[in-house]
Amino acid sequence: MSSVSDRPQFAPPEYASLEPCVDISKSGRGWGFPEYTGSGVPLEEHPFKPQEEFHSVRSRCGACGSENTLCIYLHYIGGLGTGKDMTVELVCRDCGKFTVDTYID
Ligand SMILES: [Zn+2]
Repeated sequence: MSSVSDRPQFAPPEYASLEPCVDISKSGRGWGFPEYTGSGVPLEEHPFKPQEEFHSVRSRCGACGSENTLCIYLHYIGGLGTGKDMTVELVCRDCGKFTVDTYID
């Protein structure tokens, strides 16, 4: 599932002033599950990348189709016996739109 907007939906409004990728697993709404936000890193450089679940993450902008995007938010929940749920928010460096992709197993 993918949705596009003009403003970030998961990253905070001030995301652009943050470090590129901040681990907020302990302070966010993620109950200690992996959660990251920030001004954005290319997906290839994201710290969650070594996780198997990351392999399905797409870098494509939902508005213009560009892969020139940065990941500004990622949240992963797994191991609850109810499946896995990952939310990824991208900002497009070509059109400036925000794309949220959710991955549910
Ligand atoms: Zn775009």
